Amino acid sequence: MAAHAVTEDHDPPRTASSLKVVLETWNHPIMASTTEAHRRLEMPESAVGGRIFWPYLSYFIALHIFALLAFVPYFFSWTGVALVFIGNYFFGSCGVNIGYHRLLTHGSFKCSKWLERTFAILGICSLQDSPVRWVAVHRMHHQYSDERPDPHSPLVSFLWGHMGWLVKENREVGTLAMFDRYARDLISDRFYRNLHRNFNWLGVWFLHVVLFAAVGFLVAYMVSPTPEKALQFGLSIFVWGVIVRTVYVWHITWAVNSASHLWGYRNYKTGEDSTNNWVVALLTNGEGWHNNHHADQRSAAHGHKWWEMDLTYSTIKLLEKLGLVWDVLPPRVPKHRQRVVGTVTNVSDGDAESIGTPETQAEGPKRKAV
Ligand SMILES: [Zn+2]
Ligand SMILES: [Zn+2]
Repeated sequence: MAAHAVTEDHDPPRTASSLKVVLETWNHPIMASTTEAHRRLEMPESAVGGRIFWPYLSYFIALHIFALLAFVPYFFSWTGVALVFIGNYFFGSCGVNIGYHRLLTHGSFKCSKWLERTFAILGICSLQDSPVRWVAVHRMHHQYSDERPDPHSPLVSFLWGHMGWLVKENREVGTLAMFDRYARDLISDRFYRNLHRNFNWLGVWFLHVVLFAAVGFLVAYMVSPTPEKALQFGLSIFVWGVIVRTVYVWHITWAVNSASHLWGYRNYKTGEDSTNNWVVALLTNGEGWHNNHHADQRSAAHGHKWWEMDLTYSTIKLLEKLGLVWDVLPPRVPKHRQRVVGTVTNVSDGDAESIGTPETQAEGPKRKAV
């Protein structure tokens, strides 16, 4: 959701003080899911004393409460359940993985503007803020991975890396200076600038909700024998296809930031704690091969071994065969990052190598596609 309003006044509002105490426990060792094998990290200095970011928190609470309707039998249908996974593919894998991440953040392939913007709109339908903010935060993560300025390292605590960082104001995140530094290519594009401005991207999300509901109820009306059945079927499509899917895609995307920096195996020496986590990889259609991704950020493929299934990459390759995308970058991990390590949970390499400036992250190294 929208950029954090940045203020110099760090005192939390009084009404939020008790909640703040709860939230501060994220930084307490008792909340740390990291094992002894992992380093501990302080939360970013720019988040210390930050207020609760209510716009995010209220959406999180509201959608999680609505998602509980999934446990009410009246709202159940197998079509609804299928729509969670189909929706994850189109709005999560095509929107967030391909659009926000591999294309807009890392430039892993090229395509026409209309297709790029279609991916971006699909990503917006996953309610993960504007492309400008998502890309800026992710490039910042790559620059400072598992160091203190990293906006969402789970070395602070699992919950912090998963979603805590989203509901606490961070003075460095969401500012114009940050966008200028990490997403200049996007804010200089009128389309993305306008989407970010005035919460327009949120309007796009609401529009998709209305369209999804309208089509869902229309289909339900056409296939159901009675109006009562049509209402029930239409509601099941809405609850599962929009609410449950959005919450599901949230958590699996957040799991890339949390679980895939804590648990799993590593193919490469990357100087931070990223891991290949097969559960996250399966759920996200490939994003969980996160150590591979950190080792070679521009590669369109996150699965590097034959068994590392990456449906997101398969989709890109299919689009390439159809002539819709080109210059797809293959894995090309620099030699100094290549090494074989076993399945471990202790993943600190003690290798604080630089992984590039924001500028290189934005532009990426020059590389030939195959
Ligand atoms: Zn990461
Ligand atoms: Zn990335």
